[in-house]
Amino acid sequence: MDKNTIEKKYQKLKKKIDALDFISTGSIMKVYNTCGRPGCECYKDKSKKHGPYNIWTRKVNAKTVTRTLTKEQARMARQYVANMRKFEKITRQMKDLSAQYIQSFKKKSKRGGG
Ligand SMILES: [Zn+2]
Repeated sequence: MDKNTIEKKYQKLKKKIDALDFISTGSIMKVYNTCGRPGCECYKDKSKKHGPYNIWTRKVNAKTVTRTLTKEQARMARQYVANMRKFEKITRQMKDLSAQYIQSFKKKSKRGGG
């Protein structure tokens, strides 16, 4: 690829990042619980477990952080995690293009005298 093509592709990727909404890491799971209260139906009947609870798990400074989210928050978190994957894909492409861009600048010929 020549410099112009690389530059154009790179600008496109930057626009894609600009169009991305919030980003987030982690995963969101639906979890059903038993409460342990004596006499509660969840204890006897698995179909009467409490929930679903939206459990969001992510790493923060190498530690696993868990939060319970509302339905709306879970919807947001899923969207932002999907955005994060797009973001990572785009930045990977940007890195590749940057490497190609560096290499598109050839060493100047010693004979050329420029
Ligand atoms: Zn219960």
